[in-house]
Parts: sequence; C-alpha cells; structure tokens
Amino acid sequence: MKNILVYLSIIFVLSCAQEPNYDLSILDVKRIDIETAQIENVDIYINQDRIVLIQNADSKDLAAKETVDAKGAYAIPGLWDNHIHFRGGESLLKDNEMFLERLIDYGITSVRDAGGDLTSSVKKWQLEVSKNERIGPTIFTSGPKIDGKNPTWQGSLEVESEDELDQALDSLEQLEVDFIKLYDSKLNGNLFLSALKKSTARGFKSSGHMPFSVSLNQALDAGMNGVEHLYYILKGSSKDELEITKQFQQGALGFWQAMPLLINSYDEATAQSLFNKLKQQEVFVIPTLHIGNTLSYLDEIDHSNDEYLNSLSPGFKKTYERRIKSALNSSPETRANRKNLDALFGTLALKLHESGVKLMAGSDAGAYNSYVYPGPSLHKELESLVAVGLSPLEALKTSLINGPKWLGVEENYGAIAKGKKADILLLKMNPLINITNTTSIQAVIKNGRYLKKN
Ligand SMILES: [Zn+2]
Repeated sequence: MKNILVYLSIIFVLSCAQEPNYDLSILDVKRIDIETAQIENVDIYINQDRIVLIQNADSKDLAAKETVDAKGAYAIPGLWDNHIHFRGGESLLKDNEMFLERLIDYGITSVRDAGGDLTSSVKKWQLEVSKNERIGPTIFTSGPKIDGKNPTWQGSLEVESEDELDQALDSLEQLEVDFIKLYDSKLNGNLFLSALKKSTARGFKSSGHMPFSVSLNQALDAGMNGVEHLYYILKGSSKDELEITKQFQQGALGFWQAMPLLINSYDEATAQSLFNKLKQQEVFVIPTLHIGNTLSYLDEIDHSNDEYLNSLSPGFKKTYERRIKSALNSSPETRANRKNLDALFGTLALKLHESGVKLMAGSDAGAYNSYVYPGPSLHKELESLVAVGLSPLEALKTSLINGPKWLGVEENYGAIAKGKKADILLLKMNPLINITNTTSIQAVIKNGRYLKKN
C-alpha cells in the first residue's frame, strides 16, 4: 500500500548522564512566522503535545529523548482543512477512517468537519487523536447538520418546528459539538433564522448554507458566523436580491434557475456594503474554490487516472457518480452557466479578501464530492486562492490562522511558538515563494509525535 506512514524515530543516544528535559527537539529549522512572513533559524523543543521552548539555532543544543536535525527545512504550523465531511454511512467507515492518516500524510493536522452521518465514529476518532492513540488530525465537528424533513444528506437532524429545533440543539449540545452547521435543502427560512439566533444564545458559532427564501442580510442580523461557499455571497451582492428571494418563496424559481439572474444583477455597491457588514460582524467566508472548479468541469476533465482513486473502495467511488451524472446530463447552457459562475466566484473571493473579510481555506472533501480528495484537495484550495490573487502568505493564513480563530482556539494554534500545540509541518521548500511547496513535505509533527513519510 502506498503512502503508509512510517514512524521513524531518529534517536541519538545522548552521552550526558542526566535525564533529558525534552521529549523531542527539532534543530536548526527555518521557522516561518505566518503573521509576518519572517523566517528565523531556530531549535524547537517539545514536551508531550506542546512546544515548550524555542531557541536561536546558534544556542547550545539541549538534551531530548528524540532529536531531529532539520537543517535546510522550513517549518510552518500544521495545515487546517476548514471544510471537510466524514460521511457516506457505516459501509464507508473504512474509507473515512483511512482519510485520517491520509490527511496527516498531506500535512493537515486539524480539520473542521462540516457535518455528516458518522458522528459517533467521528467523536471516537476525535478523542483517540487527542490522546495520541490514533494518527489523525485534530477534529472539530458540527456533528449532524440541521435541515428540514427528507433532507438531501443522510444523518441530518430534521427540523420542522421550533420544538424540533430545540430538541435538535439539545442533542447537539449533548454531543458537545464544536459548532452548528445548517443546511438548506428543506429547512424552512424562518426556522433557519431561528436556528441562528438559538445557536448564538446557547454559545455556539453557526455556519452554513442558507435557504434562498431568506436574504443574506436577515441571516447576518440573526447571527450567522460563517458562510459556506459563495452562492449566498453572490445572492447578497445582487441588487435584485429581495425580488429574487420573493420569487423563490413563491416557488417561481429554483436554486440553479436563480443563478443566472443573480450573476446578471450583481452590483458593485451592493456587494461592497455586504462585504463591509461581513467584516464588521467578523463573519468568515469559506469559498471552496477548488471543488467549485472541479465540479464545474466534470464534463470536460477525465479523472479516471487520478492516483488517489486507487485507494478508494468501490463503494466510495460509487458516491462520486451522482454529481458526474448530473454534470453529463445537464444542458450546454447549464454547463456554460456553471463555468461562468466558477470564474465569477474567483473574482468574488478576491474582492471579499481585499475588503478585509476573513476567508477560510476548506476543501469540502468527502463522499459524494467527486474527485475532491481528502488531503491533496486542501493544497489545491490554497493554490486556487493564490491563483485568484492572494499571496501565498495570505492563502496560508486562511488555513492555519483563520481556522483556529473562527473556532476560538487561536491560543493553541497558528504559530510555532512556546505554549502552542506541537503540530508542525516540515517542508523541503519555501511555501512563501511558491504555494505548491506546501506539498514538499519532509515530515509532520502531530501532537508532539514526529512522523516521517518514507
Ligand atoms: Zn460541504
């Protein structure tokens, strides 16, 4: 099997008599400060899952149980994939479990799981990873999504009344989820707004899709903290949003039918005032550009030789068919619309960023999301963000600074510094020069454990 991690321990027998004070030292590494782009040669000392000391690389080396000479390598905090799904039912549990090591393989040490149907397993993996009993990323999960009756996604909590909403929130609170994820396939607009308010009242951050029967302004006023994908941003940037919303409520328009109308009524001034509001309310946006692009070109690009496909079970691969069929069966006009939308989303992502709205890099990898593979797709998302105009440093921030910030755990993450979690990526090449260098992985340190790809 390819890509198996070999846990190579480079242990130098130390001649000093006393017990070493550190579990792991990473010597002479070029540490990149993701806030400032400063690069400094340092020695990193780790105990258990924490960075406990950083010294100038010229300082005298201190004794550690395990020492790694990292001369020439660049160190950045482990990557965050801020939108991923563990899902597909119990029959695809093995694939989902396999992704955990795969993500580490690709330098992703934390993920934000945006809802699925494998919650009890996800909670188990979350605990096992935190205790270092399993190799995998730290998982922040929403548990099941909140939606209406007969939802698109299996496992969603079906809510049709305020009582059912309260029960759903009770169950999510009991599960100790890290945030609330809302979905729009069947959820009634008023309940959606109520869910946002009630989530906030219970101290949860909320993010989601948004039913087209409400306006983005209403959602923001109700306390939405995160906007997944750019469809809703596009809707809020239309000068005809209220009219289109009304037509949607009356059943005169569907989601995809609304898209060309929204594109044609895009208005710079409306967009700018929306962006200001997003910035002011510290609402983060997850553009998911790579999946948008992948799905928009399913009719043209042949993925059958993708290497990653070989590691997926036939059952998992089968989940890819739904979107492929729908792409191939759609009219030339629909296909062209999707491609226009894809291009527009790139422009929109840059405008949001330039207006000071915080973006989060997320891949949307998981079952059903055709050819968007857990691991490589986050690197592709970073590439997409750079392709639309962010600098490599800005793209990295959307992954490993904004991710922890949104979840309120920034004191533990976002930098290689004393007191931070020992989640570190050692790269052979500088990612600030070329963002694709995030794939030049030499080793990954997860929860203080040194893991080297062989
Ligand atoms: Zn998703």
